[in-house]
Amino acid sequence: MLAEAVVPADEILVAGEWRRGSGAESKSIDPADGSVITTVHHATAEDVDEAVSRGAEASAEWGRRLPHERARHLHRIADGIEGAAERLARLQTRDTGKTLKETSALVASAAGTFRYMAAALETFDEELTAPRGSSLTMSVHEPIGVVGAITPWNSPIASDAQKIAPALAAGNAVVLKPAEWTPLVSLALARIITDSGLPPGLVSVLPGRGSVAGDAIVRHPGVGKVSFTGGTTTGRLIAHAAADKLMPVTLELGGKSPTIVFEDADIEAAIAGILFGIYSSSGQSCIAGSRLFLPSARAEEFLERLVKAVARLRIGHGLDPATQVAPLVHHRHRDSVAGHVERARAAGGEVLVGGGVPEGDVYADGAYYLPTVIAGLDNSSPTCQEEIFGPVLSVLTYDDEDDLVARANDSVYGLACGLWTRDYRTAWRVARRIDAGTVWINTYKQFSISTPFSGMKESGLGTEKGRRGIAEYTRQKSLYWGLDEAPHPWAG
Ligand code: NAD
Repeated sequence: MLAEAVVPADEILVAGEWRRGSGAESKSIDPADGSVITTVHHATAEDVDEAVSRGAEASAEWGRRLPHERARHLHRIADGIEGAAERLARLQTRDTGKTLKETSALVASAAGTFRYMAAALETFDEELTAPRGSSLTMSVHEPIGVVGAITPWNSPIASDAQKIAPALAAGNAVVLKPAEWTPLVSLALARIITDSGLPPGLVSVLPGRGSVAGDAIVRHPGVGKVSFTGGTTTGRLIAHAAADKLMPVTLELGGKSPTIVFEDADIEAAIAGILFGIYSSSGQSCIAGSRLFLPSARAEEFLERLVKAVARLRIGHGLDPATQVAPLVHHRHRDSVAGHVERARAAGGEVLVGGGVPEGDVYADGAYYLPTVIAGLDNSSPTCQEEIFGPVLSVLTYDDEDDLVARANDSVYGLACGLWTRDYRTAWRVARRIDAGTVWINTYKQFSISTPFSGMKESGLGTEKGRRGIAEYTRQKSLYWGLDEAPHPWAG
């Protein structure tokens, strides 16, 4: 059973104080059946203002604490997440529809992120730079002050942790705005953070509309950096607003990632990886492998096996352990995915499997959509260029490596890529030619907090994760220590 205490009745966390948001009321919907889970009053620009000014006060003291002292708090937050792991995963499954297996993994990854950043903080050495004159030169990093964090609905607790943990580690306060559709697990995380004994005011969690609370965070003069994960259109708006303030931003944006099968690939492994890459999370993943390139010579045989495997995928409620493809996050989003498939059909695309909502009473009220494969469209078609963010795979064929690389790279996005081949030379050669922040070779959608993550082209700006992930939340400063015994000769 879902523990009611995880989300206190309609309260948001404004600079250490739990209270009702001063904005409009919003309903959080369970996408498995359309029922209302709870209501949350949104944060307003006034709530943001209070969170930022009290965050600035709190960060001044927090930023002076020694690294190991800050690290201890991060470990306490990780303890709290681990202690509440099942409740958090169940809550996230209700709010996002995702399978419990996946939300459990996201919760574990959030705890791991706090621990990793604690360890990275304790071992974060400042640099003595190579001397070029008679001074000792040093590069040091200082907190920014207040950092804004804005996250999407697809993996809330993991993306929240990816921003809060390094920002706190670096000595900042954080004002987090989760997505309108999925605020609950972020609020539950906020409760864990307050219960962990973190000094009040360091973390605020302000659910609300992007154009209200999100925009107020980005434009607030007291916010010194924004770390954003979400769509490219929103990311561009935020980049424009940041340019006005000359404020640094990290943007983790959309994708339309190619998965490439070579003639020598292990077909069974490739099919399993492709299914996982596009249909896990019901395709609602920035790194989903949504464009599949097959060698013409083996395309027919491959597609026959792929389509059979797709038709066998188990669609169901996120809490059912057998489910592989759970409902989408919201009925409106499901309708948007369905619209993409209808437009693909109208453009001459051939739907090889799926292409509609599943039949049966059990699916009637949920935001379900069938895993879908579409063939017969050119890479330049909207279906192959636009991010659908659902369980929809486009299939393309190729004959020649140069043409393959050109078409794989013919996208405004550059987030990820999958390569399936037994030849390490092919993998090395093609991996280096593809415009993507992450390339998976004979695997897909593996993630590690210790490996940097970034997007090329319109998939993003800046890097998250990795040992130096903390540095993204600091201001770098150089120190020159003069070593001359005599006064400067210029002064005569
Ligand atoms: P979205 O861009 O609509 O919203 C993301 C967040 O931005 C939400 O919290 C939203 O309220 C807020 N927002 C909206 N308008 C804003 C504004 N004007 N100012 C400030 N904040 C604003 O994205 P979404 O639909 O929630 O999420 C799906 C998108 O996220 C997809 O494009 C997906 O690829 C992307 N995504 C990227 C990554 C990555 O790491 N690259 C990870 C997950 C999701």
